[in-house]
Amino acid sequence: MPLRLRIFLLFLILIAGALAFTLYVVGSNVRAAGEQRVYDALNVGRKVFQDKTYSKIENFVKAAKIIGKEDGLRTAVFDDEYSLQISLGNFLRRLESEHMADLMWLLDIDGNIVGQAGVVSEEESFPHPDILDEAANEDWSLGVVVPLKNKLYELAVVGFFIPVSAPSPSFWIVIGRELGNEFTRELADLTNLNIYIIGLDQQRIWAQSSAVDLSLNNIEIAQLSSSEVVFPLFSENDSALALKTFLQSSSDHPIYALLLKSHREVQQQVENLMRRIVFIGFAALLISLVGAAILSRSITKPLLQLVKIAQKIGRGEYSGDLPTKIKGEVGTLSQVFTDMRSDIARRQQEIQHIAYHDMLTDLPNRNAFIQELSKAIDYACKNHTHFAICFFDFDRFKDINDTLGHQSGDLLLVSFANRMEKWRPENVKIARLGGDEFAVLVPDLSLLDDVVEQLEELAAQPIEIESIALEVRLSMGISMFPDHGETPNSLLQTAEIAMYIAKTESRDIVYYEKQLDHHSTQRLTLIAELRNAIENDQLSLNYQPKLDIQQDKYTHVECLVRWIHPRYGFINPEEFIGYAEQTGAIRDLTRWVVNTALTQCAQWREQGKDLKVAINISAVDLTQDNFSDWVMETLAEYKLPAEAIVLEVTESAVMRDIDKALAALHSLSQQGVSLSIDDYGTGYSSMAQLKCLPVDELKIDKSFVLSLIRDSDDYVIVKSTIELGHNMGLKIVAEGVENQQALDLLSELKCDLAQGFYLSRPLSKEKLDTWLLENAAKIVLLKL
Ligand code: C2E
Ligand code: CA
Ligand code: CA
Repeated sequence: MPLRLRIFLLFLILIAGALAFTLYVVGSNVRAAGEQRVYDALNVGRKVFQDKTYSKIENFVKAAKIIGKEDGLRTAVFDDEYSLQISLGNFLRRLESEHMADLMWLLDIDGNIVGQAGVVSEEESFPHPDILDEAANEDWSLGVVVPLKNKLYELAVVGFFIPVSAPSPSFWIVIGRELGNEFTRELADLTNLNIYIIGLDQQRIWAQSSAVDLSLNNIEIAQLSSSEVVFPLFSENDSALALKTFLQSSSDHPIYALLLKSHREVQQQVENLMRRIVFIGFAALLISLVGAAILSRSITKPLLQLVKIAQKIGRGEYSGDLPTKIKGEVGTLSQVFTDMRSDIARRQQEIQHIAYHDMLTDLPNRNAFIQELSKAIDYACKNHTHFAICFFDFDRFKDINDTLGHQSGDLLLVSFANRMEKWRPENVKIARLGGDEFAVLVPDLSLLDDVVEQLEELAAQPIEIESIALEVRLSMGISMFPDHGETPNSLLQTAEIAMYIAKTESRDIVYYEKQLDHHSTQRLTLIAELRNAIENDQLSLNYQPKLDIQQDKYTHVECLVRWIHPRYGFINPEEFIGYAEQTGAIRDLTRWVVNTALTQCAQWREQGKDLKVAINISAVDLTQDNFSDWVMETLAEYKLPAEAIVLEVTESAVMRDIDKALAALHSLSQQGVSLSIDDYGTGYSSMAQLKCLPVDELKIDKSFVLSLIRDSDDYVIVKSTIELGHNMGLKIVAEGVENQQALDLLSELKCDLAQGFYLSRPLSKEKLDTWLLENAAKIVLLKL
């Protein structure tokens, strides 16, 4: 869920919650207050009701008392019945207009009717004699409510004193008026209550106001006598609170007033109030939500901007405006973001630079060059043009490194790189591909000759390093798009092949041609990996035993190097040794072979075995200064005597630089190292030439031995070589012995040593150990 929506929803929930709580509290308070109001209204109403009824009846009683003081009535009492009747009628009329009285009695003190007027003119006896006793107790005057003639009446009963000062009255004056709906309505208006006048004994309603729509039924009236003073009442569509109050009445006929306050009225007010509160609440909610929406937007808008910018940074885009005018934490965040973005951009640039530049010379590296090549290829494809790349390295750079040290080598590379950078025409791209290898992209073939010439001139100017002026020569291979490759890698490969050819053939420049590619391209680049193979332990040594035929003992093993490439598997040593010689890697290879072979030899000698190791040495090794010294030092390192090893050298290797080779061989021979001429018979050298060499042994090449039995020419060559060699005091080794017949023949011919698959194939160190155990009887032991 987006942040903005979450903030908004949070606000919504909080505000709605607060609102609901407020409404609940206010609502229940208002309802409680409503209930209280009903109750209060009843109490106030009762007070008003009581006061009013009391004062009304008091007035009525007062009116009766006034009549009792009238002379007219006093005299009339003693008149005849007829005159009394007239008099009473007159008084009643007066009272009727003033007090709505509609009956009047004059009773003697015992309650017998003396005269009567109004609605009761025909009565024979006073219907409520008991109230006279009550009146006597109440100081001869009483107001009371009684049922009369099936109606409810208010009666005022007062004593009639003759004379006025008499201690006790001689008659009773009773006046009455109907207490009807009129009465209840008036009080209902006054109190705003619904009023019922109820006679409990007869279970009937004497009078009722109709101010409020609430009617009682008979069952409820029956329940009234047992009810509390205050109790609830329910009707179909209303409910009310009722209050019972006693009206002054006789105990025979108890009369009550029932005051009712309907809930509906208050409820309506409460509902109106609630409706208003809810309306205000919702208005507040709406306003708050608009506020929340604005707030959440104001928070999330800059955040969203930051998110977009972060996504851009993720895509590697560092442009785009950041929100600036934001205050507070988000503002700080934005600032941090700005700083972070520029930091990342800067670091990105650095990384980019490192990724596409060579650390030492700061020239573009192989990756950068490949990119440039891709661009050049795109351009050339679109415009149907051609371009060329020159791939070159320094001749004998390894020598410089070895003799002057790596630092000097580095200095040489840097100053040459600087020179190139200064010279570089704008549209020409240059790169250092690694080691001493450089590449130049020439976008226009018409410039190619110029560029090549200038590169050679650049190299020819001496470079001064540690006060030595060095001149370097370049070996350069050139390939062209699209003829020699259509991808950056294939172009580089063909140019590299051309460069290898230049090196091999000691030429300055070779233009790539298809015919050059008789060595597979893959193989060539593979050869380039040889250097790494030496460092990464991809090489191993196999050992092939040599048999001393006359003694029938194994006295030597020849060390043969193996390269198992992690991707391409077994690589023929004849193939990679040749290239190792051309590229100078042979020196490292020989060092590795010698060290490994001597380690092994020292182990055998420790085990008491007199097993000499024959090590193949290349022509390049022999031309190296101090080679013999290095061999002797290494022997000393392993505490091995010179006799422990035989160095195998091909005759062509010796002939390549005969002076240097001779010097090295003499030195080695003088110090006791045995030397062997390998592959004898394949070169052009004659026995006469070999005479001047300080060698101890001739190895007849396997090409003569393999078909020794079948081929009479080979037989002649082998036979004469053995004889001639023996004459010169040399031992003869035959390699390529593949069967018993050959071995027998060689034995007959007095050949000294035999080597071949028939005796043993070249074996890994582990396999040789087992082989040695199996052939322990044929191993010479060291003499102590
Ligand atoms: P090489 O010095 O003439 O080594 C003898 C080669 O003849 C070996 O081949 C060996 O396996 C093979 N051979 C031995 N007996 C028989 C046999 O009965 N029948 C056949 N058909 N071949 C046999 P490998 O190991 O392939 O070596 C090839 C060449 O590579 C060697 O020729 C040598 O010139 C060169 N080489 C091998 N190891 C080294 C090394 O450590 N340093 C140098 N500089 N050259 C090496
Ligand atoms: Ca050999
Ligand atoms: Ca050989």
